[in-house]
Amino acid sequence: NPNRAFVGLDIGTSGCRAVAIDDQGNEIAQASAAIPEPLRPRSGAVEQDPECWWRAVCQVLRTLADPLKDCPAAAIGLDATSGTLLLANSCGLPLGPALMYDDRSAVKAAERIAEFAPADSPARGPGSSLAKVLALVERTEPTSEALALHQADWIIGRLTGHHGLSDWNNALKLGYETERLLWPDWVHACIPNGIRLPQVLAPGSPIGTLDPAIAEEIGFPATTQVLAGTTDSTAAVIAAGAANPGDAVTSLGSTLVIKILSERPVTASRYGIYSHRFGDHWLVGGASNSGGRVLRQFFTDAEIAALSQRIDPETNSGLDFYPLPGPGERFPHQDPHLRPRLNPRPSDPARFLQGLLEGIAAIEAEGYARLAELGAPAPTRILSVGGGARNPTWTRLRARRLGIPVIAAQHREAAFGAARLALDSTAKLELASHSDPT
Ligand code: ADP
Repeated sequence: NPNRAFVGLDIGTSGCRAVAIDDQGNEIAQASAAIPEPLRPRSGAVEQDPECWWRAVCQVLRTLADPLKDCPAAAIGLDATSGTLLLANSCGLPLGPALMYDDRSAVKAAERIAEFAPADSPARGPGSSLAKVLALVERTEPTSEALALHQADWIIGRLTGHHGLSDWNNALKLGYETERLLWPDWVHACIPNGIRLPQVLAPGSPIGTLDPAIAEEIGFPATTQVLAGTTDSTAAVIAAGAANPGDAVTSLGSTLVIKILSERPVTASRYGIYSHRFGDHWLVGGASNSGGRVLRQFFTDAEIAALSQRIDPETNSGLDFYPLPGPGERFPHQDPHLRPRLNPRPSDPARFLQGLLEGIAAIEAEGYARLAELGAPAPTRILSVGGGARNPTWTRLRARRLGIPVIAAQHREAAFGAARLALDSTAKLELASHSDPT
């Protein structure tokens, strides 16, 4: 049926967004719903009631039902915040609130994990999903078997009735080994008895059709397939259109985040670098403390846009800035005391802004060079996302500095990436079933 839709759901902390695309990848509808602010009951603690995610998911799907009347949904793909986790019983009933991705209360749990985990494990640190499992077990003391579920895992359980499934992007921070595709012994050793780790699938794997009662309630066909999810940042890379090794995505948001597709994984914990499995490749990323937050310390967004028009991106300012919002850098330099370098400050604000834009571009270039040094390919083209991607002067200046094409990504929404994942995974499955002689 050519008239069918693929729906992507992006569940975050402040809201849920959905995008529906047709089988050519064209957007046909979208919807969004707000999620109430998380609670901060103690210092470092950030919690949310999972039921408010569910209400937002139902609301956006119900909103899509009408525009999709003549183009019914074939599949739903989804992404959610990585590192947000809860415990639930075997029917998916939450045993308490979820600990959010930015919760940092699991300090003691992280210390315990450090005794078991390899030095470069993404499951280290109080922000990891694994630390949150240990902290939640301590708090709730479950009496029967409990499931450890990420935000995406739990939503999939609600949609399909299949609880206890995850994907290898979400499971990375829970200690899952994405090269060997297994739970290593050390994770079992530090997980308390009675806690069931999720079964981990490839993002986009078929899980099952919508629970019939829920399909009825939201007005979707009961035949709609629900697919294994991914993390929000991976979905954004899919949306941007990265597909081949050497394709890179630079996010110019509050912070500068760079990612590149590689044929092999790269890990360097001192720089905070780890790799996600991404289709047949690996997605290697690093995050600098530099970024748009520094621009906001000096200029409003309107000033940045206006002043940028006075900058000639074909010339160099001659300034040599290292813009940081305060002391400390993680990547491409690991130095907790690195000081921002913003002198000498020119009196002309356009020239000052040029120095800042060039400085961040230099960090971007150094970042890709660092990833290449560690085993990733050199970038062949860069897709830009985030607030800074809409600045053509900066784009041109970066292209000149990097010596490769730099393009503003056409699609930047994680929900679009989740829809794309649903479409591509369904197409792959159908191709496989057609070529299978049985
Ligand atoms: P976040 O990471 O907070 O989601 P966004 O992707 O919305 O951020 O990007 C916000 C950042 O983009 C701000 O820090 C701001 O300095 C920067 N920004 C906004 N407009 C422009 C512009 N025209 N040129 C360069 N940077 C911009």
